[in-house]
Amino acid sequence: MKKGAQLYEGKAKKVFATDDPELLIVSYKDDATAFNGQKRGTIRGKGVINNRMSNLLMQLLEEKGIPTHFVKELSERDTLVKKVKIVPLEVIVRNRSAGSFAARYGVEEGIIFAAPTVEFSYKNDALGDPLLNDSHALALGLATREELDTIRGYALNIDGVLAAFWKECGVTLVDFKLEFGRLSDGSIVLADEISPDTCRLWDSATGEKLDKDRFRRDLGGVEEAYQEIMRRLEAQLQAGKKDQQS
Ligand code: ADP
Ligand code: UDP
Repeated sequence: MKKGAQLYEGKAKKVFATDDPELLIVSYKDDATAFNGQKRGTIRGKGVINNRMSNLLMQLLEEKGIPTHFVKELSERDTLVKKVKIVPLEVIVRNRSAGSFAARYGVEEGIIFAAPTVEFSYKNDALGDPLLNDSHALALGLATREELDTIRGYALNIDGVLAAFWKECGVTLVDFKLEFGRLSDGSIVLADEISPDTCRLWDSATGEKLDKDRFRRDLGGVEEAYQEIMRRLEAQLQAGKKDQQS
């Protein structure tokens, strides 16, 4: 499948048309931004890692019955995906306090929640992605009641699958952001990416941050953290395959 016209260039990816109106190619860049684009930089090799990691995790989710946009990895940075109309919500699942949750409610980071929380932000850069609830999303016509229920259900199932998987890698899944979209038949699928750009991932033993917070907070060792998390994911998938064979 060949790249057609570039449809969009975002902060972390470019999106291209293909010969098939139902399919797109996403191309992952090394560009990194934080604080709604105010902080900019480059994380060398990030695009390659995020592309691969996102594709591996989406395939894992598909195996567990969660529909995703993933079709085929085309190269180190390029992936063929099903075209969706993105539901303009950032769906954030949290297992522990961190980031904006800790700041908003005045609590320390790392508090383990009795049950995961799901929250929605309105995906709107100009407004700074404001937090909203179901009633607001319905009032703004961003999604239907049924779609919100489907999205929340998928988000919690995804958390179950991913938190268990990362635990086997010696990594705590603290929180993450998802985006969902509508296929041409109206059905909801997971879209966008799952990567250290969109998840908080802490070493389970030491609490070391292995995600984009190293860039946001100028902690150093950014490239190394992305490499380390990818190394653990691939090792765990290899170990899983060996278990299945024996
Ligand atoms: P941003 O727009 O926040 O800067 P990116 O640089 O990651 O983000 O750009 C990728 C864009 O593609 C995002 O706007 C995302 O919502 C959108 N997108 C992701 N997956 C799909 C898909 N399957 N179909 C259509 N759009 C998608
Ligand atoms: N996140 C994201 N994109 C955003 C906002 C958040 O991928 O535009 C991810 C972020 O990496 C973290 C989770 O969502 O894993 C929760 O982020 P939070 O609301 O704490 O915001 P932040 O601290 O990033 O401002």
